[in-house]
Amino acid sequence: MRILITGGAGFIGSHLAEAYLENGDEVYIIDDLSTGSLDNIVHLREPYRKKLFVHVDTIMSRNMMLELVGTCDVVHHLAAAVGVEYILDNPLASITTNIQGTEIVLELCNKFKKRVLIASTSEVYGKHMHAPLVETDNIIYGPSSKFRWSYAASKLMDEFMALAYFRTTGLQVTVARLFNTVGPRQTGSYGMVIPRLVKQALRNEPLTVYGDGNQTRTFTDVSDVVWAFMRMVENKEAFGQVFNVGGIEEVSILNLAKRIIEACGSSSQIQFIPYDKAFGKDFEDMQRRVPGIEKIANLTGFDPKADLDVILTKVIRYMRSHLKE
Ligand code: UDP
Repeated sequence: MRILITGGAGFIGSHLAEAYLENGDEVYIIDDLSTGSLDNIVHLREPYRKKLFVHVDTIMSRNMMLELVGTCDVVHHLAAAVGVEYILDNPLASITTNIQGTEIVLELCNKFKKRVLIASTSEVYGKHMHAPLVETDNIIYGPSSKFRWSYAASKLMDEFMALAYFRTTGLQVTVARLFNTVGPRQTGSYGMVIPRLVKQALRNEPLTVYGDGNQTRTFTDVSDVVWAFMRMVENKEAFGQVFNVGGIEEVSILNLAKRIIEACGSSSQIQFIPYDKAFGKDFEDMQRRVPGIEKIANLTGFDPKADLDVILTKVIRYMRSHLKE
């Protein structure tokens, strides 16, 4: 099969590309390298030179997208403005990419009748305190002065667009709401907590815990997410549906920091940083974010293989070898 991955040079996209190439498929990538990097796929270029085709371009380039969607059998749409810091630093470009970009992807997949998976985010749930979050839950956002919610709102619009295509034209589209995903090659540059804290611990620098550290998250290894994406896009029962994809073990950020210090054998201390110092006064965090994964488990048998200890071990090993370079 020919697989198009928008955002294929990003952290998750590059792992997905690798899995399809290992499967014997042809992979087409379009990535504008805004947060992705060719370094993420450099190791694939030589072994898969006849099967991997990389286009450094934006998904807003309709002519390029026309050619790529027309060529491929299946589309995974991962290109998006991601990372809390990136969204806050690039508020306008983030909304434009997330809304207009997805509009182009959906329009073309509909034109050529191609199957498509839209990567959404657990951000769309907003600021709930209950757990687990299930796909039918209400959503609760803060005011539009708090720019973090622009990301949630733009991705929610993507979901509505995808579901509207399914309802009106029968487009074979599936939406995956990703919870915090971690693994090798993820950078901490745009806010992601595990690579940031691991890097700080390995350098014996203070670990920056925002707020009081009682906010919680679950983490999924990227290999489990890739496994789920490959199955979801193939499954007819998934068309027109939204699925959480996330981890099981709920951990507070403070406990996460302690576990990272221990796992790294680090002498780092924990430094609490008020949210307004980290992000400015117009910021609100999500205090709790735990997925219900029954729906995806029922569809695919999803059962994340990597627990938090395994995830941390993998990231620490990767960071150790990377920091030496
Ligand atoms: N966080 C932190 N220190 C950091 C980076 C992030 O305490 O250096 C916190 C952040 O405030 C949030 C959690 O870790 O509560 C997860 O942040 P991330 O940006 O990885 O993902 P989010 O779930 O917020 O999208």
